Amino acid sequence: MVKENLETVRKTIPSGVLLVAVSKTKPAEDVQEAYDAGQRVFGENHALEMRDKHEVLPKDIDWHFIGHLQTNKIKYIIEYVRLIHSIDTFNLLQAVNKEAAKHQRVVDCLLQFHIAEEETKFGLSIDEAEEILNSAEYKAMNNVRVCGVMGMATNTDDMNRVRKEFHQLKEIFASLKSRYFADSEWFKEISMGMSHDYPVAIEEGSTIVRVGSKIFGERVYN
Ligand SMILES: *Cc1c(COP(=O)(O)O)cnc(C)c1O
Repeated sequence: MVKENLETVRKTIPSGVLLVAVSKTKPAEDVQEAYDAGQRVFGENHALEMRDKHEVLPKDIDWHFIGHLQTNKIKYIIEYVRLIHSIDTFNLLQAVNKEAAKHQRVVDCLLQFHIAEEETKFGLSIDEAEEILNSAEYKAMNNVRVCGVMGMATNTDDMNRVRKEFHQLKEIFASLKSRYFADSEWFKEISMGMSHDYPVAIEEGSTIVRVGSKIFGERVYN
């Protein structure tokens, strides 16, 4: 079913919007099936799971890290990760910069913002992001490149609410772009939208959608 699901999802995504196939909790065989259907960009939210899949799967896969990242786990992904969507503290950005330097890499990152109603979702406030971007430490970081923003909407069927939250993220992006990244052509990504809300996210200006269950089926946690 993975191939069929992937084709169905692809038809709904305009060119210019990147589809990250979120394979968390799914076996490497499922990733391989999507790979064989042409998909090259995959998202994971646990460092060790990403490492294990990276080891056994084709090396031309772009691995995106999309979950809460503990600083002591960065080492498992830093050599190959293509984009870290989930920078949610200054401390994490500093730690990624430090690990990336050990491998002479410049790692692309997104700042994750808290846009949902729920208290449990990780993410920065605008004040916290500005504190990072204004700091001397940030300006001296040579091994991370901030390429945009990421956010998760409230998990609800109320699409008006979801739309408002995505709209808010787009405004955060525009504000940071004009004040900090006007001359940085790489600061262009807005990662928002999951299986149940990605069409709304695209209408609100998403450049990257992260779709899991609609491609790989419902996840079973045990
Ligand atoms: C699991 C996950 C997704 C994908 O969720 P689906 O509802 O299965 O599409 C997207 N983004 C993040 C951050 C996730 O953890």
